[in-house]
Amino acid sequence: MTLILDLQEVSKVYPGPPPVQALTGCSLQISEGEYVAIMGRSGSGKSTLLNIAGLLDRHTSGTYLFGGRDTALMSDRDRSRARATNIGFVFQSFYLLPHRVALENVELAFVYAGVARRERRSRAADALAGVGLGHRFAALPRQLSGGERQRVALARALATRPKLLLCDEPTGNLDSNTAATIMALIDDLSASGQTVAIITHDSTIANHAQRTVMIQDGHLRELAA
Ligand code: ADP
Ligand code: MG
Repeated sequence: MTLILDLQEVSKVYPGPPPVQALTGCSLQISEGEYVAIMGRSGSGKSTLLNIAGLLDRHTSGTYLFGGRDTALMSDRDRSRARATNIGFVFQSFYLLPHRVALENVELAFVYAGVARRERRSRAADALAGVGLGHRFAALPRQLSGGERQRVALARALATRPKLLLCDEPTGNLDSNTAATIMALIDDLSASGQTVAIITHDSTIANHAQRTVMIQDGHLRELAA
């Protein structure tokens, strides 16, 4: 099986002052096609782990291989490129541009991914249709419900056909019915082969995944299947 992500004894210290040891000796392997939940309480280090895994931040010690490449040897430019083409992000607070319609928000994913301009619109439209928003291309974020906004964010994350979908509390701002529809979409993506890592403090969300890893005070441990 191809490893997408391979963290070996990874630690992270925020320099401060005062310095904060956010991760300690974390090892985690995620192979192509896996659906993994990373669960822990507020302040346990989940977002730090996601930021490192997603090449948004750098670890302090240990080794992190992404797609077999040692991320410590990658320049900031290499990291941005790898992120734009290989990783899709979904966050609790959507991060859509308020003055851009749904289609334009999705098209933004291509700007950094080196997709030709003439292909962007049709691929964005396909991605939106794929999350059930084929009829809302022209809607502004404020004209959409929370669940629809998160669908736009999912379409944007998936538009570049990333190797890895990273979700940080993707249902954290949604009511439980809407959360269930978003989780059903993520489950379908996983069933069709998408590699997914989902960060959550909620065990009902974690139960959707095939594997659960717990993080506690910056320490990771795998739960028995
Ligand atoms: P979680 O996402 O599980 O709530 P975080 O990864 O955000 O946890 O935070 C883990 C620890 O690192 C916490 O103690 C938090 O206060 C600290 N932390 C997070 N980001 C920073 C930062 N930029 N600078 C200093 N400390 C930070
Ligand atoms: Mg967090």
